[in-house]
Amino acid sequence: MDYETIIGLEIHAELSTESKIFCSCSTEFGADVNTHTCPVCTGMPGVLPVLNKKAVEYAIMAGLAMNCNITRYGKQDRKNYFYPDLPKGYQISQYDLPICYGGYMEIEADGQQKKIGITRIHIEEDAGKLIHDDFLGVSLVDYNRAGVPLIEIVTEPDVRSAGEAKAFLEKVKSILEYTGVSDCKMQEGSLRCDINLSVRPMGQKELGTRTEIKNINSFSAAVRAIEFERSRQIGLISAGKEVALATLRWDDENGIGYEMRSKEEAHDYRYFPEPDLAPVVIDDGWIEKIKNSLPELPDARKERYVSDFGLPEYDAAFITASRKLADYFEKAVELGAPPKIASNWIMGDISRLLKDRGLEDIPFAPEYLVKTTDLIEKGVVSTTAAKRIVAELFDGEKDPEQIAKEAGLIQVSDESELALLVKQVIDENPKAVAEVRAGKEKAMGFLIGQAMRVSKGSANPRIISRLVRKMLGL
Ligand code: ADP
Ligand code: MG
Ligand code: ZN
Repeated sequence: MDYETIIGLEIHAELSTESKIFCSCSTEFGADVNTHTCPVCTGMPGVLPVLNKKAVEYAIMAGLAMNCNITRYGKQDRKNYFYPDLPKGYQISQYDLPICYGGYMEIEADGQQKKIGITRIHIEEDAGKLIHDDFLGVSLVDYNRAGVPLIEIVTEPDVRSAGEAKAFLEKVKSILEYTGVSDCKMQEGSLRCDINLSVRPMGQKELGTRTEIKNINSFSAAVRAIEFERSRQIGLISAGKEVALATLRWDDENGIGYEMRSKEEAHDYRYFPEPDLAPVVIDDGWIEKIKNSLPELPDARKERYVSDFGLPEYDAAFITASRKLADYFEKAVELGAPPKIASNWIMGDISRLLKDRGLEDIPFAPEYLVKTTDLIEKGVVSTTAAKRIVAELFDGEKDPEQIAKEAGLIQVSDESELALLVKQVIDENPKAVAEVRAGKEKAMGFLIGQAMRVSKGSANPRIISRLVRKMLGL
């Protein structure tokens, strides 16, 4: 039997506010443990929270960018559960009146356009971080993260495959980065998601029983977790067993999910309106102001790159997925780089080097890329040499021509010098010469290759090719 996979995502993103959601402690990542804390975010008795207006603004911004309705009247609620990383014994979240609701986002997966519905986007506070020390046999808690503002984006069960889930997550990341709502640093836990998944026989109307896989923090882990859980559920159902409603923890190293607890339901949390905070009232003027402050979003930019710069769709999608790459690309084009050449470098060598070195930002200014491509254009260096220059630019900004000189990468374009070299190659390879005369293009490539080898890669291949033809009277 064929099964259909049904997926709904819950995505948490830490907001880019400077201070926490209910106090003025810093949200900066990586500080010494428990230094960004105060009586409010450590849940001391007698303190009162004050809502950070910027957190609401960011939630509205995310909602507008994801085609949501924005509520005019929202409220915050207590979600009660007991865990040592939650100092108050409850989390302040939103239950029935979230900031945003009823949106959607367009994705492209497996060559198809598709809309994924967004049920809601609400604001809430993050919990602290537990550090389990096996050696001492204790668990320690760091409250620096407690009270960092989050938005939670909840989707309709519209996602049908790992590919669609990945495309959606990438789109969310890209939009949150463009709008500056979150830095989305997945390795720092700024963006993480829960995957709700069920399967049903093809053609069945009712949804099957779902499981929820918690705290996935990379796109590739999401793909692996979905594949795992999909086969596990199909295995159970095919064997005549039932899928149990449960919460799973994903162990990415071993590629398995295991049951953490049976799934809690809303009434387990005993939600009630937060009595220490006033309702959130949002007027049209505020929404309008935020709407006008939205930057050009990735889809619009992509269209513009295709129509104005003549980039292929693929290139435009690749580059605009990251605001940083897109800004870099535009600067390079502004400085005179031909768009397709700039996009080739960014999608190729530069992206690979960023990945190899674990970097988010290209460590040299666009001017240096443009200077490098100019050197190729003028025949001063070969494309192969330019790859070395770009790699060296990753170690620090330095004039590309200077790098080329120091590394002996300047192409020899002096014809009299190259003519001697070509003559030598012709004399030493009578068989290939005969083949070239007989019209075999492959042998021509061999002769040029030999000349390049003798010159240790420094000869200008275009001139070599011309000289070989000339000397053989072709
Ligand atoms: P909870 O808050 O308990 O996690 P929700 O009803 O808010 O539950 O649903 C959370 C997520 O689960 C949503 O993204 C929703 O689309 C998804 N979901 C709900 N039912 C199913 C199902 N049967 N199969 C797959 N996903 C589902
Ligand atoms: Mg959930
Ligand atoms: Zn605090």
